Amino acid sequence: MDIKSVMKKYGIKADKRLGQHFLADERPIAAMLEAARLSPEDCVLEIGPGIGVLTEKLCQRAKKVVAVEKDRNLIPVLESMTGIFENVCIIEEDVLKLDLELLKKRYFMSDFKVVANLPYYITSPIIMKLVNHRRLVKLAVIMVQKEVARRLSALPGGKDYGVLSVAVQLYADVDMVCEVGRDAFVPPPKVDSAVVRIVFKSEPRVKLEDEDAFFKVVEAAFGQRRKILRNSLKSGLALCGISPEKIDNALEKAGIDPARRGETLSIEEFAKLSALLRY
Ligand code: SAM
Repeated sequence: MDIKSVMKKYGIKADKRLGQHFLADERPIAAMLEAARLSPEDCVLEIGPGIGVLTEKLCQRAKKVVAVEKDRNLIPVLESMTGIFENVCIIEEDVLKLDLELLKKRYFMSDFKVVANLPYYITSPIIMKLVNHRRLVKLAVIMVQKEVARRLSALPGGKDYGVLSVAVQLYADVDMVCEVGRDAFVPPPKVDSAVVRIVFKSEPRVKLEDEDAFFKVVEAAFGQRRKILRNSLKSGLALCGISPEKIDNALEKAGIDPARRGETLSIEEFAKLSALLRY
């Protein structure tokens, strides 16, 4: 049954406040499944299953699927759409409140993959939650706004490279899987979308003595993108009690030209700089 018929049959009206744009095109679904490299041994968390188009396919490929949906109205539809599968568990919950440690213990007993067409209004908090639980999550294949996909996978030097790129790439390899047009969804969103794959690393890209200090430097460097690095750091770190002299010394010792823009620094350079600024 196609999406519109399912929605009609169950009297579903998409709730835009919950970011409901259901996938109606098989191609991005196939691309997501392939990118997730699913095997019959895999456990999968699906965030926001909607009316279950992706859920069904995940159940056919994985050992166990837990689908977490906030919208109570969709639960009976999901249960009916996935009724023939014994390896699925539908949970009515806000993903941001979900205890991922407990989820692992209760349902999976192992680390798991995340496959999801995300509700865009909470894209960043969901991604940061996955980053913070990276020891539980093997990889995530997620549909996000195209602009966010670019930021997630951006390399130093471009306008898309920012705090989100650094925060995710410090702990993961990110690659763009495919771009997806608005017509792939019912109803179509106002923005284009893309699928990205985030593969978490067992160790961060660089070793950090002090993560907070690292992110203070990153945030300061990107805080005023039009300024040269030296000036953004000076204004961004003044409140942390770091003097302009200390910043000049650290830049010199790290071999980083103070006239560069913050957005040209690699994660390794940020790490070097933040280590020097701590002392
Ligand atoms: N997976 C479906 C698909 O691809 O057709 C639906 C994706 S739709 C973009 C996002 C889904 O996330 C909706 O079903 C929405 O109700 C659900 N959702 C929104 N906020 C949520 C939250 N905080 N926790 C869990 N699910 C949420």
